[in-house]
Amino acid sequence: MRITLVGTGYVGLVAAVCFAKLGHEVIAVDREPVIRGLKENKLTVWEPRLEPELADVYVKGLLRFETDLARASSDTDALMIAVGTPTRSDGHTNLGHVHEVLSHLMQAGTCPPLVIIKSTVPVGTCDELEATLLAAGLRTEVAFNPEFLRQGSAFKDFMEPDRIVFGCKTPQAESLLRQLYEGIVAPVHVCDRRSAELIKYASNAFLAMKISFANMMSDVCEGYGADIRHVMSGVGADQRIGPEFLSAGVGYGGSCFSKDLQSLLTTGKLIGSSLPILEAVAKVNDQRIPRMIAKLISLWGNPLGKRLCVLGISFKPNTNDVRDAPFLTLLAQCERHGIEVQAFDPVVRQVGATAAQVMDSPYASAAQADAVMIMTEWPQFAELDWPYLLHLMRRPYVLDGRNLLPSQIISQIVEVDGAMYMPVGRSMEC
Ligand code: NAD
Repeated sequence: MRITLVGTGYVGLVAAVCFAKLGHEVIAVDREPVIRGLKENKLTVWEPRLEPELADVYVKGLLRFETDLARASSDTDALMIAVGTPTRSDGHTNLGHVHEVLSHLMQAGTCPPLVIIKSTVPVGTCDELEATLLAAGLRTEVAFNPEFLRQGSAFKDFMEPDRIVFGCKTPQAESLLRQLYEGIVAPVHVCDRRSAELIKYASNAFLAMKISFANMMSDVCEGYGADIRHVMSGVGADQRIGPEFLSAGVGYGGSCFSKDLQSLLTTGKLIGSSLPILEAVAKVNDQRIPRMIAKLISLWGNPLGKRLCVLGISFKPNTNDVRDAPFLTLLAQCERHGIEVQAFDPVVRQVGATAAQVMDSPYASAAQADAVMIMTEWPQFAELDWPYLLHLMRRPYVLDGRNLLPSQIISQIVEVDGAMYMPVGRSMEC
């Protein structure tokens, strides 16, 4: 198939490379600076396997880059849209980027027979987009094909998904979608477009709910001297529940969970339904960073002028994405309490216009710090020379916001004079 894919961010670029690997001829479209960066091999997206996989399909001529949407979509079988759909300040989803793509198609007066929405969009959006195109004289079907990949394991998730969802109206659209995914072995779930749009939101809401549930239970564990790791591994062993997304910590972040939860809450309000479970999920998550700050204050007394070493900036390991990262919330709250932040991340080298100092090494970020907090579960943080790191600090206090460190490292930590190790949802060790 010949396919044009608009939007080369975390989802679009991986999808473009994977469709090319499946043997399709892919044209990826984005704005001029993004495409220039891609052509010069300066990627803004950091994802394991991305560079070599991209280079491979690019040199084979299976993937090319374009800025002119009309040219790129003039002779293709399908157009896939994977642009961002952030939340507006009023809680509604901002479909501005999606509408901009449609405007270009309508201006050009041409459109492939199938437009596939890959971006996460509220229920009813595909119906509206199709009606807009039709009103402009473009007879095309709009289908919905949500993406479930996780940043950090995007290639594996894309090529070996748990399921593929097609929300479409006609057998012709379903047949084109099946052709596009030929080569990927996974159960295919075909349904109407509105149900498919809700599958994506309900999935993310459910995953966020699992995380908030584990975090809520971690507070109970802390209060009663139990261990959240035992509790959740016992709970997750039940096949009806499953072990994933049950780790307690500093809360979920990233570009999807908060925004999709917010969007679903707004969708509910439009029909007079408050979706109280989702409100509680967001509320529990919002309490995580204040709880970490309270732990710091319990150790320090007065936080003013203290220095915090933060390990991990990205919202999860194996990505450079800082959108909605818990780190940003932590940073804002540290500023409010007069706490200075020195941070380190294996791939994030700067964090916009923030007051955080991003250091070149974990040891540099620990210099003269009054505590260290693990914010992201990068596995390499468990391999640091912890006694040495603590030796560089003013106070040897460790807050493990991800329960990352194994017991042999914790034993080394607590041997250091005056040291304290504070995990989440289990007893502190000192
Ligand atoms: P992103 O911000 O990383 O990428 C979006 C890209 O679209 C950018 O490169 C931007 O320049 C480009 N773009 C915007 N408007 C454009 C236009 N008019 N013409 C050409 N290019 C344009 O976003 P993302 O994280 O890849 O997410 C994309 C969509 O996929 C969102 O709806 C998101 O909710 C959904 N999603 C994301 C993930 C994830 O893990 N990031 C997972 C599943 C679904």
